[in-house]
Formats: sequence, C-alpha cells, structure tokens
Amino acid sequence: MATGACIVARLVAGARPLSPAAAIVLAWAGLALVNAGCIAARALPHAGLRVRALNHLFDAGQLLFLGLVCGLAVALWQRLAPRRSWLAPLGLSLVAVVLALAILAPDLDNFALRMAGRERAALLAATLAVALAQAVPLAYLAGRRMARSRVRWIAVAIAVVAAVVNTQILPVDYPGVHAFLAWTAATLAGAALAGTPSRWHLPPAPRRVAVVVTAILAGATVAIDPGNAVRVELTRLDSALLAAHVPPWRGEVDPSQYGHIPIPPELAPWFAWSADAPPIAASEPPLLPPDAIVLFFTLDSMRAEVLQNPANHELLPTLHRWRDAGFYVPRAISPSTVTRFTLASLFTGLEVPQLRWARDSATQGSLVKEDRPRVADLLTARGVTTVHVISQFELVNHVNKIGRGFSEEIEAPIAPGDRLAYAPAVMDAILARLRQHGDGPLFLFTHFMDAHHPFDSGDRKGRAYARHVSELANIDRELARLDAWLGEAGLWPRTLIVVSADHGQAFGQHGVQHHGGPPYEEQCRVPLIVFGPAVAARESPCDLPLLDLSPTFLELFGLEAPGSFVGRSLVPALRGEPPLCGRPVLSTTWDVFALLLPDGVKILDNRRKRTLEVYDLHADPRETKNLCDGDPAGCDARVGLLRRYLELHGAIPAPR
Ligand SMILES: [Zn+2]
Repeated sequence: MATGACIVARLVAGARPLSPAAAIVLAWAGLALVNAGCIAARALPHAGLRVRALNHLFDAGQLLFLGLVCGLAVALWQRLAPRRSWLAPLGLSLVAVVLALAILAPDLDNFALRMAGRERAALLAATLAVALAQAVPLAYLAGRRMARSRVRWIAVAIAVVAAVVNTQILPVDYPGVHAFLAWTAATLAGAALAGTPSRWHLPPAPRRVAVVVTAILAGATVAIDPGNAVRVELTRLDSALLAAHVPPWRGEVDPSQYGHIPIPPELAPWFAWSADAPPIAASEPPLLPPDAIVLFFTLDSMRAEVLQNPANHELLPTLHRWRDAGFYVPRAISPSTVTRFTLASLFTGLEVPQLRWARDSATQGSLVKEDRPRVADLLTARGVTTVHVISQFELVNHVNKIGRGFSEEIEAPIAPGDRLAYAPAVMDAILARLRQHGDGPLFLFTHFMDAHHPFDSGDRKGRAYARHVSELANIDRELARLDAWLGEAGLWPRTLIVVSADHGQAFGQHGVQHHGGPPYEEQCRVPLIVFGPAVAARESPCDLPLLDLSPTFLELFGLEAPGSFVGRSLVPALRGEPPLCGRPVLSTTWDVFALLLPDGVKILDNRRKRTLEVYDLHADPRETKNLCDGDPAGCDARVGLLRRYLELHGAIPAPR
C-alpha cells in the first residue's frame, strides 16, 4: 500500500510538499488499492481472466474518478475561496449534509421507522443522516491536526482500517453508509497527507498529461458499461461505491419488450392469466376426519440442507423421524427470503409481488391494503377454529395484517430482557390451547423464531452454523414434547403436522452471512414435512413451491381453493398420487427475482443492481458459473421468460 501510494503521489503531485488536491486523490487511490486486494482475494472460480481484469480496472477507475472529483473541488476551493480556517470544514459539512440527505437517509429509513413510527420516520432519518454526515468535516479537522511528521501515518493507518472494515460490514446493502464511510476515510487520510514532503518532482507538462490521461481513463470506467459478468462481480463488493449507481448502467425494465420470447409448450399453462380462473374443488375422499387438527409450524431460517446433512441427525431426532415417516419435500422453494413476505405469500396464496404492500408499519411492509381472502379468513368463515400462537411482535395481526383472519391470537409470554418468545414458552402456549380444544376442526399456526441471527439462544460455542443447528435442536425438543402429548391425549388420529421454514440462511455462500438477500439456493431452499397417520412415508421426486401449502390447508378442511392461488394442493400427493412436478417457481426479495425452471435452470434478475444471472443447478448447484457470461442470447431468452412470468404475476412493487 505504502509503495503504491508513493508512486501515485509522485505521479499526481510532482511538487513538494504534497498539495491538498493531490493528497485527496492519493487517499482515494488508497481506497482503490484496498478494494483491489479484496477483489484479488475473492475466489471467482469461473470468472476468467477477462472478467477479473475488468473487475479490477473498473473498480479502481471508478474510485479514482471520485478521487479526481474531490481533488478538483479542493483545487477550485483553494483558488477561489477566502482564506479562513473555519470556512473549509463548514463548506465540507454543507456538501456532506446535501449528499447525506440524498444517499444516506434512505439507508436509515427502516431504522427510523422502527424507532419513531411512520409519522416521524422521515424526520428522524434526515436528522440522523445530517448528524452522521458530520463525520466527514470531523475527519478533515482530525486529519489537519495530524498532518505532521510521523503522526500523519497514524491517520493513514486509521483510514486504511476503516476502508478494510467497509468491505466487511453490512453486506449487500446500505450503499449510503458504505459511501460515507469511504468518504470519511479518504478525507482523514487526504487531510493528513497534505503537506507531506515529496522527493519526486514531475515537470508541469508531463504532470498535466498524466492527470488528463488518468481523468480520461477514470471517466471511461463511469461512462462505459463493462457488461453483465463484470457488473455481477463488481456489485458484490460493497465498497465498489459507484458500481450499482453509474447512470448509463441503469435503465427501467419494460417486461412487454419480452413478448416475442417463446414460452415452451410444457410451461404454457403456468404463464396463463389465472386471476379470474374458477375455484378448484377439494378432491375426494377427504384425507382427514371432519374434526381434523392441522398444526402448521415454520422454523425461521431452517434451510433445506439442515435435514439432508447426516451430521444433524442426532441433534434433530423429531424432525428426522417425522421426515422419514411422512411426505417429505427435501427441496421446497420459499416464495421469498424475507419472513413476512413468505408468510404473507403463504396465507394469501399469491406471489409476493402480486400483493398490495403498504409501507406504514414498524415492520417495513404491511398488508393493510390487501383485501383479497386469506387462508385463515376462509377457514374461519367455514367454522374452523383458527389459532395463531405468536412468538414475535412482528407477526401480530394489528401490526401489519399479515396474520389476518385467525379467530384467535395467542401471544406467548416473552421473558424479561428477551426480544421474542422461545420454543419452550411457545410450546407451553400451544399445549395449553390444545388441551382446551374440543371436537371441532382446528388449524393452528406458529412461527418459531429461535433459530435466527445472531444465533445466541442455543449452544453459544462454535461456528454460526453449529449454533444455528443447536437452536433448531431446542425447537426439536419441544416438537418431541408435542409428539408425546398428542399420543397421550389420543389425538394423533385427527392430527396432521406440517413443518417447514420461511426461508433458508447463508453461512458465507455468495459472500453473505444472512438471509433476506437475493434468492440463491442457500436462502430460498427449505425442507417441507407433512406428517401424520393419514400420510404415507414418501419423498417428493421434484422441487415443489412452498406456495402449494395455501390450497393444501383449505383442502384439508374440505374447502375449494380460489382460482387465483398460485400453488396446487398437495393433498393428492399426500394420498399417494404423484406430486405435480414441472412448474416454474418464483422466489423474490426486494427488487430481486429468481425463477426456477423444471429443467434445473435458475434465472436471477437483480433490479437493484441491474445484473442478470442464469445457473444450471444440475451442473452447478452452488450457482457459481453464470451462463449469461458465455451465452448472451441464451441468457436473454431465459431472462425473457422470467420477465414474462413477472409481468403476469407481479405488477406491484414490494416495499423498500
Ligand atoms: Zn425469517
């Protein structure tokens, strides 16, 4: 870093001492070097030399472009502004405030919404942004104070640490925070480096040529589109500040332009408008008795792999026993990688983008304007007792209307100091309610939140994955308690248990340690188990959408499914018929859409970053070889399919 910095210093400065303008350019060049290290350290197993080289070139060029803009601003300031020591930090503060309101405040929106509610969220986000923006002038003042002999290198070291931290925190989101952290680091280093004695001296003419050539190259990396493959890799680096924001790279998607893309005949029924389709009647004979008890449990973040990994067998004995004795879909696909989106989708039977989302609750997305019938509405209207045992505030109906229609809501008690009710308390509430239940039909739903980042409610030792599984083991023990109680109470003949998850979880795959991001396999694949005496043991031969549960719940109680429901009832499959394979399945998160085709091809359309990815999951289950790189025409045809599917199933944007 020091050598590189020195070379750039000599090229840009050419005079001693180092001018403030040259120092700030140098500082941004330092950020580019940190990023270059990050890019070089990444695996990119299939990216190839060209993509790698362009990745380096465009990232360095874009950061240098920002550096040159800063350098030009500093040079103009020095030439034009009056010489007052307080004026520079004041000017910097004003520029930072304007930029913070534009790019930092949106990152703080959700936090502000939680803290202050809808009425005052915008004001709080703006206030926080203005306050955080002061980091830039403060970094300038600190850098000026440290701009002497060896002390300045302490400032540079702090800036380097901040730049490295910036590549590691808040992955795949918060572009404004990343931009401000980078700017603050560059300002600290630039202010400290100004005045550094330089032994090199470049004559004015070559210096001008060097600056012009650098400016042209840097400008080119902002004006030219490097192509999808480079964009995909560049936008995965959060400290590549401009990658997702360069204007020529962005453009509105017009799905109608894909009208010419042919739909394969076997997929055509799933690309037809179904909103006005007639309801689908329940099949005969009924799978369950009239006083059926259906218990539906979702386990937060339980990805499909958890029940396929032999290492977890002893830790999760109940889930494995139910898996082996019931109808098991090893790889079901969740409609979203976000809890409330998936649950909303399951209870309405619609794809997430089809729902009318409003942004007026403390939980970002709300269904107050979505008046189409929910599974619980329909069951309650038919006389089924519908009970929602709630482990976390977010799922309470009055908060966001996602759990609308249940005839009873029971909030499991939350221990003092805890943020949610854990499995033992939740199971106590479930068993207490089951003990009260008499003869009628019952549908009971609970979302267990135990197994969730930061994975601190189970075994606190070991890596994140092990801690996560230990939290699932806590739930498994409670399910065993339920299993035993149902036996003692003699209720098993009436009972059917459905266990799944709202989404998966990434443990470093695709560079992230969370869920809620793009629906890569680790985030959208979940297990699905349907267990009870009425169901024969078998495993689904194909992937199935979790949305099949919505009409399934209705059919289990003898109700027809609305024609608009996207999924198809699993009841025939539970009875022993083959499940309905061969359908396209959608999974989404904010402005990112993935469509999985029956032939194992998966298409990802990231509208936020304007990147396209196509993977062949049979040959490349880890989604590392983007087929768009080598086959633009094939990529286009596949993406066209996804966009035609979305045009049909998703006109309403999700909240942000
Ligand atoms: Zn969740």
